[in-house]
Amino acid sequence: MAEYRAYVTDAPGGNVEYRSVQISDENGNVMLKPLLTGICGTDRGIARGALPFAYNPSGYNFLVVGHESMCKVIESKSDYFKPGDIVVPIVRRPGDCPNCLIGRPDNCSDGNKHEAGITGLHGFMREMFMEQDFNLIKIKDKELGDLGVLTEPMKNVVKAFEVIERVSTRSIYQNNLSTMEGKTALIVGTGCEAFLYSFLSVDYGFDTFISNRHPIGQTSLNMCKQFGVNFIDSSKEPDFPQKPLDLLIDTSGDPGTVLRYLRKMNYNGIVILFGTNGKAPSTELTGEDIDHIVERNITIAGSVDAAKIHYMKALDYLSKWNRMHGDIMKTIITAYFSPGETDVFTKKPDGEIKSVIKWQ
Ligand code: NAP
Repeated sequence: MAEYRAYVTDAPGGNVEYRSVQISDENGNVMLKPLLTGICGTDRGIARGALPFAYNPSGYNFLVVGHESMCKVIESKSDYFKPGDIVVPIVRRPGDCPNCLIGRPDNCSDGNKHEAGITGLHGFMREMFMEQDFNLIKIKDKELGDLGVLTEPMKNVVKAFEVIERVSTRSIYQNNLSTMEGKTALIVGTGCEAFLYSFLSVDYGFDTFISNRHPIGQTSLNMCKQFGVNFIDSSKEPDFPQKPLDLLIDTSGDPGTVLRYLRKMNYNGIVILFGTNGKAPSTELTGEDIDHIVERNITIAGSVDAAKIHYMKALDYLSKWNRMHGDIMKTIITAYFSPGETDVFTKKPDGEIKSVIKWQ
């Protein structure tokens, strides 16, 4: 029976506290200590009891939270990892449906998968834990430093763009030079996921906009400038966009905002729903909205999580952006907290893009 200090909740009731827990049945051939764990919208949703799909592991009356992490290998019985290696553990673990059995638990077809720190599996916000080597991704780029903790949020973005590529093949989605130049993408929200989406959107060649319904801080504005992303404060620019949108990615989970921009979608437009907020106010979808979606062949796709391959590709993008934009890229981590601090689960620090807990 191992005893750790950990951030725990009794899911899905809400509230997160830092205390000692005993975890008896964990097997794995690699012992890990977290270096950094990130706090994301999902962790805050769990902390305020807004995510009814979260649940405790079988046999436990608590769930260790945390699914974004970068860890150091302390001991290893694996041929692939040695003490000192820096790794990222995979969040979602397969059940036995066909998608899970081919390494795509992100596309699980019966819901019998588990997610560390979210659904039925203890997460990574604890002093140490054991893992199986096949659930770990090694960070080989030593220059990446703390940005390695963004691998987990970035892998979601890589997967969603895979979805975009697939659905865009049903017509000619590119321009007549076969690029995305001149195409418009809007990413709703200005959190970490939204920024990562916007960077990849720029890489794909879209004219890229990111929006919120209030101003954003100087760090975020600097990041927009450096990466070539345009910020829209929707409270001041109600007529945006002047041109129809080819790609809409929502990280807010707000139905009213999604619908507002859905009404501005271009022919063959693609909408990715990514953000979740079960407590957001409802809104009305009208017959005219359905006409618009049908007559323009608009695809609306949900996208959740990602597979091991997307973690690996995520590291490549992060390394590239770190090489290109160095100092600015590092400012995406806007605040560091110490183990034991819990306010960050309930209150977003001003100007936050990504808050992390620094364990060592
Ligand atoms: P986050 O930092 O909370 O980002 C959400 C962003 O949406 C914030 O910038 C928030 O602005 C903004 N927002 C909220 N309502 C809005 C509205 N009506 N109009 C415009 N912007 C609005 O969270 P995150 O970590 O980046 O994650 C984004 C979302 O994705 C969360 O809902 C999270 O639960 C979800 N998520 C989904 C997956 C998946 O696999 N699908 C994976 C991870 C996370 P404020 O600054 O005003 O709060």
